[in-house]
Amino acid sequence: IAKQTGKNRYHLFDVHEDQSIQTQRETIEHIKQGLLQRQFVLYFQPQVNMKTGEVIGAEALIRWQHPERGLVYPADFLPVIDNHPISLEIGDWVIETALEQMTKWQHEDLDISVSVNIDAFQLQQPGFVEKLATALTLHPLVKPSRLQLEILETSALGEIAEALSTMNACIELGVNFALDDFGTGFSSLTYLKRLPVGLLKIDQSFVRDMLDDADDQAIVRGVISLANAFNRRVTAEGVESIEHGTQLLALGCELAQGYGIARPMPAEDIPSWVKQWRPDIAWKS
Ligand code: C2E
Ligand code: MG
Ligand code: MG
Ligand code: MG
Repeated sequence: IAKQTGKNRYHLFDVHEDQSIQTQRETIEHIKQGLLQRQFVLYFQPQVNMKTGEVIGAEALIRWQHPERGLVYPADFLPVIDNHPISLEIGDWVIETALEQMTKWQHEDLDISVSVNIDAFQLQQPGFVEKLATALTLHPLVKPSRLQLEILETSALGEIAEALSTMNACIELGVNFALDDFGTGFSSLTYLKRLPVGLLKIDQSFVRDMLDDADDQAIVRGVISLANAFNRRVTAEGVESIEHGTQLLALGCELAQGYGIARPMPAEDIPSWVKQWRPDIAWKS
């Protein structure tokens, strides 16, 4: 599904191109080459507490630095490899790279949490927990509790039920889980009660429109009270303006991530961003 969202964005497919098996095969071949040639990078988007001003962490977001096409966004290649074994290689690479980056930051005295997006397919693989345990062992400077795994609420509904024991085993390693894009998946309350997730991330579509759309605001409000009732933390995605931040704070949501705070950036820009972040200007009123 092609959409021109920005001049730097390349879309692997557009309506004029046919999304055939052939194209998928080519894409997979390109991705394999890309992995070998180290064309993938993680960008990081800061997550802050709007009330205290604290920087609490950053979300790792994959980008494909394509030699001819420039920076390719995940929406343009992850769906093509959904449930394909290559997505597992990407998934492993993301976890290892995030841990490597956290180790580098530890050396620079920057101790922040990092959230990594995990898909259900990855979580369901036999050996996922062992692999994660090994990766953590190889990065002893990283406290496991500083690593958070984000899974989509939509995938959590079906497949994650079977992955419950895997999730619990990961939690025993010390890592945390968050439910991403929360509000888009209609989780039942009983279900949510059973899922060992410490954090709900309110989907950005509701946050974006909450200022003008009463229904979206009601959903935001609902997710916040749900999180409170279940003793889970809650964070808002897609916080694009001070107005969003102010209203979220008024509704009781303190944690936030969004362009209004910072855009995703290369890892090397994070330490200086953290240093220059002045919450007193933007968020305290
Ligand atoms: P997500 O995990 O919900 O990540 C948030 C997405 O929203 C990111 O897009 C981020 O750049 C964007 N965003 C953040 N703040 C704002 C804002 O204020 N306004 C708007 N309009 N957008 C904002 P990105 O990086 O293109 O990633 C899209 C999705 O791709 C992610 O959504 C996640 O589901 C998936 N993804 C990204 N990296 C990975 C990865 O390493 N592994 C897996 N499995 N999925 C990933
Ligand atoms: Mg996410
Ligand atoms: Mg999200
Ligand atoms: Mg999303």
